[in-house]
Amino acid sequence: MTDQIRPQPGIMDIALYQGGASRVAGRSDAIKLSSNENPFGPSDKAKEAFVKCAHSMHRYPSTDHLALREAIADVHKLDVSRTIIGVGSDEILHFLCQAYVGQGDEVVFTEHGFLMYRVSTLAAGGTPISVPERERTTDVDAILAACTEQTKLVFIANPNNPTGTMIPLAELERLAVGLPPQAILVIDSAYAEYVEGYDGGAELAGRLPNVFMTRTFSKIYGLGGLRVGWGYGPQDIIDVLNRIRGPFNMSTTQLETAEAAVRDQDWIDRCRNDNTRLRGWLAEALAEKGVPSDTSTANFILARFTSPQEAEACDAYLKTEGVIVRLVTSYNLPNCLRITVGDEPSCRRVAHLIGLFKVQFMAGNA
Ligand SMILES: *Cc1c(COP(=O)(O)O)cnc(C)c1O
Repeated sequence: MTDQIRPQPGIMDIALYQGGASRVAGRSDAIKLSSNENPFGPSDKAKEAFVKCAHSMHRYPSTDHLALREAIADVHKLDVSRTIIGVGSDEILHFLCQAYVGQGDEVVFTEHGFLMYRVSTLAAGGTPISVPERERTTDVDAILAACTEQTKLVFIANPNNPTGTMIPLAELERLAVGLPPQAILVIDSAYAEYVEGYDGGAELAGRLPNVFMTRTFSKIYGLGGLRVGWGYGPQDIIDVLNRIRGPFNMSTTQLETAEAAVRDQDWIDRCRNDNTRLRGWLAEALAEKGVPSDTSTANFILARFTSPQEAEACDAYLKTEGVIVRLVTSYNLPNCLRITVGDEPSCRRVAHLIGLFKVQFMAGNA
């Protein structure tokens, strides 16, 4: 490399994203609770659609994604012309930054917000602005206070990852209404389906001119490996994003599998109910063993330990026992572990192991 060949400003400030670990050396039976995946996987109908696609792979995919967009619009009662499909919601977040953010522009998110907000902001040449939360919960007043004439986007995950907390729709609306006129509120609703009766901000994104919602098939739909997400918002924002979207960004396999998945809402209801039950059980079991957590609204629990050392020691101990959870030091939560709600045996195993760990750790520190 010569020193004349340089990337755009900001690019070298991006830390490489570390995904949740998926392996423990020497074990083939590891339980992965580190990436908020649905332990039950996708619906059988989605799997059947995926297999069927093997016969049509010589054909180029649709460029307007209309069949999937119509399925989404049907199920969620949305205006189909205001939907857009991307390679995971990550791609939609990226489009938003690419389209609305340049040098000198600011993008606001919360101190324990999703790491991709920072990555996409820096990739677009913008300046990330991190705002404090209150007790690991989004603080609307702090966000409003951080906005300036340079603010172009405000990203809120609701429920948030990795805290698991959320704020009410009325608070999101208050935030949207209070933003400076050039700023868009992006509600990242990756975990919305886990919250009974919550629309993920769809109604707000349909009504207000500065609210955009992103969704994903990676979490409750059990299709993280397929890479499909979508967005919904004002028509003029959708039109802007479509100009930078590659015409063939989605494969036929992605489109047809996701379409079958979204049409099978019975599967989603079952997964939500199982998650709610097991999440409650796990939170209580951990609390009994001296590991508290905030009430989670998603498919994971942010378990709090007494120190970063204890969290790291517990993470290491769980690994030796073949259970992979997530240290969230990179989210400024060094004394916490994020634990995905797995199936029932996984929940029982992780709770049991953490109980054993706590006893040993307390004894060691006594
Ligand atoms: C998992 C997750 C996503 C989903 O990303 P995809 O690219 O759709 O897989 C988006 N936002 C948050 C906060 C997440 O935790």
